[in-house]
Amino acid sequence: MSLDSPARRNIRGPESADAESAPKPLRPWSPETLRALREQLRADSQAPAREPWDLVVVGAGITGAGIARDAAMRGLSVLVLEAADIAFGTSSRSTRLIHGGVRYLEQGELGLVYEALRERARLYQIAGHLVRPARFLFPAYTGDRLPLWKLRAGLSLYDALSLYRASSHRGLNPRRTRELEPLLAEPGLRGAVLYEDAVTDDARLTLATLQSARRHGARVLTYAPVESVSRERGEDGTELQVATVRGGDRIHARQLVIATGPWTSERLLGAPGRELLSLSQGIHLVLRAADVPVRQPLVLQAKGDERRILFVIPWGARTYLGTTDTRYTGDPGRAGVTEEEISSLLSTVGRHLPGARLQRDRIISAWSGVRPLVRAGGSGSTVELSRKHRIIRNEDGVLAVVGGKLTTYRAMAEEAVDRALERLPRRTRPACQTQHEALVPGEALTRDELANDSLLADLSARHGPDARTLARRAAEQPALRERLVDDLPYRWVEVEHALEYEGCTHLDDLLRRRLPLALTDPQLGAGVARRVARRLIEARGGPGREIDEELERYAALVRRESGREVPAAP
Ligand SMILES: Cc1cc2nc3c(=O)[nH]c(=O)nc-3n(C[C@H](O)[C@H](O)[C@H](O)COP(=O)(O)OP(=O)(O)OC[C@H]3O[C@@H](n4cnc5c(N)ncnc54)[C@H](O)[C@@H]3O)c2cc1C
Repeated sequence: MSLDSPARRNIRGPESADAESAPKPLRPWSPETLRALREQLRADSQAPAREPWDLVVVGAGITGAGIARDAAMRGLSVLVLEAADIAFGTSSRSTRLIHGGVRYLEQGELGLVYEALRERARLYQIAGHLVRPARFLFPAYTGDRLPLWKLRAGLSLYDALSLYRASSHRGLNPRRTRELEPLLAEPGLRGAVLYEDAVTDDARLTLATLQSARRHGARVLTYAPVESVSRERGEDGTELQVATVRGGDRIHARQLVIATGPWTSERLLGAPGRELLSLSQGIHLVLRAADVPVRQPLVLQAKGDERRILFVIPWGARTYLGTTDTRYTGDPGRAGVTEEEISSLLSTVGRHLPGARLQRDRIISAWSGVRPLVRAGGSGSTVELSRKHRIIRNEDGVLAVVGGKLTTYRAMAEEAVDRALERLPRRTRPACQTQHEALVPGEALTRDELANDSLLADLSARHGPDARTLARRAAEQPALRERLVDDLPYRWVEVEHALEYEGCTHLDDLLRRRLPLALTDPQLGAGVARRVARRLIEARGGPGREIDEELERYAALVRRESGREVPAAP
């Protein structure tokens, strides 16, 4: 049967799009849309003659999102099944950098750095509002493992590997270094290098990638954990792969792709998934910018033999510090901060920034993520493990994509979809298009728009050109212009937008990943949580008692991840 048969178009419903046609505008993605898709899949699962999806992706982190977008843009019918929320896993818990990875130069991973720098340039083009260049300051002190001359040599190589597309690095003497960053400790300072990399919003990058996939016809169902994978012969004798979702619905695919990040294991992948990954946890701490008033992102070296480097990143009215690299076992969704990690972060940063207020009671929040590193054998530290990705096909033909970085997700997806196409009955093999089209279509906001309209300026960092649509809506209902919290840029219009267009089911989807008050608000969102929960339950059409259930669920998740208590919601 043809890949774009009428039967398939039916299930894709109003979101279907031909590969060649222009992307459609953003389609509603509300609790109701999600419920309709769930019911449609259930009915489809029970129908005797069902049309398989070309590609079913398991996992809606950045890897799954990238694959879904690439495949949908090549005209495949695509379904994404996610166990929790979009970017629930590592993709909302990274250091939020789109970078070549200066540190990987030391490990001789020139290929990885080259690829990452090439992807950084592409992401500037397709996701300009979410991937913002910044000048990173990397100081060197007497006795540091990486002395100044090595930093300069490394950054010269970095510039070359970026093909000089970004502004070149500069070496600075101690005086100039402290002029740029007066907070840095003076004793022992030998100088610094200043170089370009980029800062992003990982959860939003994942969401925008999936939204683009949806514009091209992909469907995405959240809170749909896949419990097992099997294979079956279709009616026409072709071999199909079957994902069974909790509750028993069976989803048929010509090609299944497992993109479950640190959850990738034998359960879904069989033997190749056994001992495939080495997990490593990294935490970040969030403080007020007034307590850690750095002027630009800083890169700091940990003391001693550790090869670790840390980042201190300004984030509007906040600054965050990270990260650690600690072996991890257990459920990646339950990772939380440990006392040792907090102490290690605070002491390294405190040594470099003696004037910063880094007392524990100044910490606003924290997050904790688990890296899915491809195992290398041996018992060395996870800091040494490669960040390269790997694509595996098991004996049933199921593909899995593991490892890699946020930065390289587009290239990983391209490779994965090329591999997927090998199994699909197509005469032509459409080429990857993902580097040519912006994630959010439309004209970028102009300098004038940003300078003259504080609402647009707040919205543009998360919504790009769509900020204009949100601003128009707020103009009709002025209460929606208000910020949720005074010194944070999130506006009430974004809550309404998230409920209608961003696939939210639970309160934590909204307050942890769409508008991350759980990470940035000293009250951890408590001041608005009840009101947001009420709107969510209205959108879900559920009974009022679910408001308290959502508040409790949210508090438990924040406690687990950040170790902090959400104050009682008024
Ligand atoms: C501390 C830290 C800092 C990092 N910093 C950076 C950085 O600055 N820059 C960079 O480029 N990279 C960084 N990375 C790496 C990057 O974040 C990851 O490589 C990337 O996010 C992995 O994405 P993923 O989609 O493969 O996995 P995930 O984001 O974890 O997604 C997997 C998804 O699969 C879902 N899932 C699991 N099991 C099932 C199932 N059975 N059924 C359905 N769904 C399922 C999960 O809920 C999850 O949403 C960092 C990683 C960490 C941990």
